[in-house]
Amino acid sequence: MFCALVAALAGAQTQSTPAVAVSMTPEVVEAGSPELFRVSAPAGATVEGEWLGHKLEFFRGRDGQAWYALAGVDVEAPVGPSTLRLVARLVEGGAMDLSRNVEILPAHYRTGTLTVAPKFVEPPPDEMARIKAEVDLKAKVFAASAVEPLWSGDFRAPVKAAPTDSFGTRRTFNGTLASVHKGMDFRAAMGTPVRAGNSGVVVLARPLYYEGNCVVIEHGLGLFTISMHLSRIDVHEGQHVSLGERIGLSGATGRVTGPHLHWAVRWQDAYLDPAKLLRMDLSRAR
Ligand SMILES: [Zn+2]
Repeated sequence: MFCALVAALAGAQTQSTPAVAVSMTPEVVEAGSPELFRVSAPAGATVEGEWLGHKLEFFRGRDGQAWYALAGVDVEAPVGPSTLRLVARLVEGGAMDLSRNVEILPAHYRTGTLTVAPKFVEPPPDEMARIKAEVDLKAKVFAASAVEPLWSGDFRAPVKAAPTDSFGTRRTFNGTLASVHKGMDFRAAMGTPVRAGNSGVVVLARPLYYEGNCVVIEHGLGLFTISMHLSRIDVHEGQHVSLGERIGLSGATGRVTGPHLHWAVRWQDAYLDPAKLLRMDLSRAR
């Protein structure tokens, strides 16, 4: 569903200037929303954008009609007005300012309490070096990304299991540690095959302290999907995977209360609602 937010340029549009339209899907932007930007500028144009401190990286769409960027708003982003800066530069010369205001609405996430093994709330001193090393490793993994999309078409759920409506929940662990749940939990029984949600490259496949056996797939232009708590990893770092390819089996490793799959979607440093990504029609874009 696309809705033209900017149908044409105000002011100095001449006969030789192609019409440029901008749309955002979904139209209602909430904290945690992924967003697909579409700018119907000619192929020779370049489109530059910036939103909420993030650079938008546009690619030419499969439909041959427009430029697209897949982006989003972090689950913890402040709600209220924001400025979307967009500029289209045409081959004939000249720049079109397509900037606009975007209102970010609250998403009404829940609160909950959980009990986990005490070592996941207060890690023992002899694990601190490992945890620190893993923080650095993850920062390095998420800092690099392909300069073009590696995904193609819609994302699909990584398991055949019921999801729980848990993204964005404010959780308290063991009555003390408070955090926001930045992924989607699937009620996957131990040993359920976990599959790639789209094509990409495995950039991390190893056991981590909190995440347990963890697989991170890089989908290009700063987009990653993350599968945690696996009982087994079936891929290796550097491996290309396609949509639906098995990457491991679900389990209960790391900071868990029981077997399930935690699946997260990260764009740049923002965590996005996986359920919303799974509902997006990306077929015209890529
Ligand atoms: Zn989870």
